[in-house]
Amino acid sequence: MRIYRLAILLAVLLAGAGCNKNLQQFGAHKKAQNVILLIGDGMGLAQASSAYYFGEGEPGFSRFPVIGLHKTKPTDELITDSAAGATAFSTGYKSYNAAIGVDGDTVARETILEMAAKKGLSTGLIATSSITHATPASFFSHVPFRDQEEDIAAQLPKAPVHFFAGGGLRFFTKREDKRNLLPELEKAGFTVDTSSLAQPARFSLAQKYGYLLAAEGMPKMQEGRGDFLPRATQMALDYLSQDKDGFFLMVEGSQIDWGGHNNDADYVIEEVKDFDKAVRVALDFAQKQGNTLVVVTADHETGGMSLSAAEVRMQRNYNHIKPTFSTGGHSASLIPVYAYGPGAWIFAGIYENNDIFGKMLQGLGWK
Ligand code: MG
Ligand code: ZN
Repeated sequence: MRIYRLAILLAVLLAGAGCNKNLQQFGAHKKAQNVILLIGDGMGLAQASSAYYFGEGEPGFSRFPVIGLHKTKPTDELITDSAAGATAFSTGYKSYNAAIGVDGDTVARETILEMAAKKGLSTGLIATSSITHATPASFFSHVPFRDQEEDIAAQLPKAPVHFFAGGGLRFFTKREDKRNLLPELEKAGFTVDTSSLAQPARFSLAQKYGYLLAAEGMPKMQEGRGDFLPRATQMALDYLSQDKDGFFLMVEGSQIDWGGHNNDADYVIEEVKDFDKAVRVALDFAQKQGNTLVVVTADHETGGMSLSAAEVRMQRNYNHIKPTFSTGGHSASLIPVYAYGPGAWIFAGIYENNDIFGKMLQGLGWK
């Protein structure tokens, strides 16, 4: 019986090895040079599924050959917030809710972005929240509590970030300590644009680029944010891909979470559709370029969202979806992970959120 099973396994492996295309599809054939990590904050399976019912065309999610699930529990509670969630991804350490780039003992831990820069890669961060908000902050800063957004901003000029785009201008210019951080960013080599997502005639790797386009969060899609997220993603790729050593880019659809907190299905759906556009930009780049690992996931689910059948006078209508919510907060469900490119296969299975850090390193051949 055992030997029989072994024979089947060998046959499958040999057939696989003979089929180069199969190996390529799962990214088992080489190491990644670049990593694009896209985080849909609060995007559980129902939120991602909404793109299939309310979006236009086949969602980018469908283009991933490898799917996994991660467990989100932080160190101190059962349900995570975005700070502990992003810190698990960025440092490989599970931590307590509100922790930014620090472990459970508030010790600063090196992030994948910092490691990438040290190895000579270029780095970028994009968010539709303030750039100092929990998710992006966990990649470049280290503070015990997420609400220290002015302290987080003060760490950006010295952080090894080469491109950033998002909101949060007021944490740089209207501070309690009266400092203006814009000159400090410029001294650190940044060209900072606070009025529009204008692309320079030519991106130069000798320069760094920052866009701070709202006082705090960027406008909602429903309030005219337009193509900020997919366009900033494309701009970052145009710039970062000039680096022969590779790059690390994190892109966050920050407001899927905010729609969930508001139990506002339309808000969630518009933000998911926008996030999916950024996913497509990343995939299009990776497909052409060939050496890029694309990972899409969320930190946690928000709202306990469900794609329920509409109910009219106690009658369920299975032909009409009316999303419902079970909480104004986050939920504990496992979270999908989508992977494409070299190292994608590493993301199959069920694992802890902080394993995503090591899996990205493994994909890059750093581990
Ligand atoms: Mg976030
Ligand atoms: Zn939240």
